[in-house]
Amino acid sequence: MRRYLIAGNWKMNTNRDTAVSLAKSIADGSQAATGSVDVLVCPPFPYLIPVQDAASESQVTVGAQNCYFEEPGAFTGEVAAEMLADLGIQSVILGHSERRHVLGETDAIINRKVLKSLEKGLQVVLCVGELLEEREAEKTNDVLDEQMAGGLASVSAEQMANVVIAYEPVWAIGTGKTASPEQADSAHAHLRKWLESHYTSEIANGMRILYGGSVKPANAVELLSQENVDGALVGGASLTAENFVPIIEAGA
Ligand code: PEP
Repeated sequence: MRRYLIAGNWKMNTNRDTAVSLAKSIADGSQAATGSVDVLVCPPFPYLIPVQDAASESQVTVGAQNCYFEEPGAFTGEVAAEMLADLGIQSVILGHSERRHVLGETDAIINRKVLKSLEKGLQVVLCVGELLEEREAEKTNDVLDEQMAGGLASVSAEQMANVVIAYEPVWAIGTGKTASPEQADSAHAHLRKWLESHYTSEIANGMRILYGGSVKPANAVELLSQENVDGALVGGASLTAENFVPIIEAGA
C-alpha cells in the first residue's frame, strides 16, 4: 500500500532560530507517527542545513522549495539541484503555484527542473492545480492534464519511483478555503488515471498523490481518509508543531 507523506512547505518564513526550534518540535512530536508515515519539512534555502542538523536524530527528512535546472555555473542567485544533493537534501518541491503564478514559471521550466532533480537523485514533489476561474469553467481536468504532461515530459517510468504528485487547487492555497474531500478525491482519481494511461497501472497505483490547500488539524482526517489522497502538502499549518504534528498523526 502507499505510505502517506506529510510535507510542510515553510515558504519564505522563519528565521534561523525559529526554523531550528520548529524542526526540533516537529521531530519530537512526530516520533511515534514516523513508524507509519513519512514526514518532510521544506525550509527556505538558508536554513536547510540548520534544520537538517536539528532533525538529524529523527525520521523527519528535509527538502528544498525550488532549485535551478542547470549544472553549477554562471547563474547568479540560483541553487543547483546538484548542490542540494551534495548537502544530503532528499527532496525538492517543484511547480508550486506561487512559483507558477507569482514567479512566472512555465511547465517547460518546471519540466527542466524536474528532469535535473531526478538526474541528481532528488525526490520531486511536483505540484499541479487549477485556478478558481479554471474550476468554474470546468477546465480542472484539462489543466491537470496539461501540467502533468508538461511537468513530466521525458520522465522515464523508472524515474517515476522518485516522484510524488501534489494536487493543490490554487484557490485553496493560503485562503482558508479547502477543497471538499470529494473534490480532492475526484481530482486525485483523475491524476491517477492520467498516470495509468501515460505510464502503467503499477506506477499509477503506487504513486503518492498529496492534497494541498488550507489543510489543518480540523480537516486533515477527512481529507486523508479519501481513497486517492496519500498525504498532504501543508503551508500555513506547517509553521507550528501544534498544528503540523496532529496532521502528521492524522496520516499515521
Ligand atoms: C502550500 O503552500 O503548498 C499550501 C498548501 O499552503 P496552505 O496550506 O497555507 O494553503
